[in-house]
Amino acid sequence: MANKILEIDALTVSFDGFKALNNLNFAMNEGELRVIIGPNGAGKTTFLDVITGKVQPTQGKVKFKGKKLSGRAEHDIARLGIGRKFQTPRIYLNLTPRENLELCCNQDKSVLSTLLKPTPKAERRTVGGLLETIGLDHKSDKPAALLSHGEKQWLEIGMLVAQSPDLLLVDEPVAGLTDEETERTGELLIALAESHSVIVIEHDMEFVRQIARQVTVLHEGSVLCEGTMDEVQNDPRVIEVYLGSETSITPDQMLLLRIAATMAWADGNFAPIQQDVILDRLSRQFAQDANEQASLRHDLKDLLAKKIPLEELVPKLTTPAEREQALMLSYEVISSNQVNQAEAVVYQKLLKLLDLPPETVSRLEAAALEQLKTYQ
Ligand code: ADP
Ligand code: MG
Repeated sequence: MANKILEIDALTVSFDGFKALNNLNFAMNEGELRVIIGPNGAGKTTFLDVITGKVQPTQGKVKFKGKKLSGRAEHDIARLGIGRKFQTPRIYLNLTPRENLELCCNQDKSVLSTLLKPTPKAERRTVGGLLETIGLDHKSDKPAALLSHGEKQWLEIGMLVAQSPDLLLVDEPVAGLTDEETERTGELLIALAESHSVIVIEHDMEFVRQIARQVTVLHEGSVLCEGTMDEVQNDPRVIEVYLGSETSITPDQMLLLRIAATMAWADGNFAPIQQDVILDRLSRQFAQDANEQASLRHDLKDLLAKKIPLEELVPKLTTPAEREQALMLSYEVISSNQVNQAEAVVYQKLLKLLDLPPETVSRLEAAALEQLKTYQ
């Protein structure tokens, strides 16, 4: 029988009495690639937070390679061999992909010493191999700032692998990627699964189908069912929870929201009033009911955490009408509070990217302020 890399027993996590995870049981074999899916709020991120020690269980046990994890600090758990890829890439943009990877292979060295000292031969091979694995060998010596969103994600996955973890945890790796990048991410994860145990959390069903052998469905903090993609997709319980939370918002509408949300997040602080403005607009224009609104609120928070730059979002707006709508919604959002320096800068950037005639801008700004009054 294969060894268990992870065993989770009756795990409960309460936040002020609310059970984000509720008596959850889970086990996974060494070498497995497991995908975890579930509607928003199912507890997927909390599940990873407990495994990495970011959140302590209220009840229950987590065992990694037979060792109990409860009570251990995050860095201690990382040292045991659990690596996590966060949603926001954490890479040094001024350094090249090669330098970023070298830093990870040299955990105890400072940024400066890695740059100044020649890299030992053996290590260079590892970094070279990694660059090839993540498909960045042709861009290895350009600043990481020039990479696409997808390439940054791959670099971060490479940086994680450079630390040689036994278990890789990957939270929504394809959000915001193009179809082609999504497919290549799937190939990368499958390649990594040959030498690591991997848990991937994902929303994108097509992507799950591409990579998944075994799927675990979470719902309301517990495991709803497990099986192959075909088995879980045909399970009536899964169909029910997914239909119950499906939003009818289109990708175009979501894009508008993300642009507006980027405004609100300009100063690193998404004020509740701005959140309300966005959601109010949503509920009027896009969302059909309160359920959908709650689900959108959650999606937006996740999207915000990814901090996708405007330069990547705005070009995806295809029609002038969409560009006008993006301006109005964004102006509403920043005007819902006193406009601060950071927001003003981002707004100027948006205007430049949108490239609308000045008369149109003034007209839309005035209309946005009118619109805002209707909420007050
Ligand atoms: P998922 O990743 O599946 O969308 P999460 O694990 O992020 O779900 O959240 C599960 C539930 O727990 C949600 O209802 C969320 O609002 C709640 N939750 C998550 N973290 C906290 C926290 N720190 N405090 C209070 N509630 C939280
Ligand atoms: Mg999540």
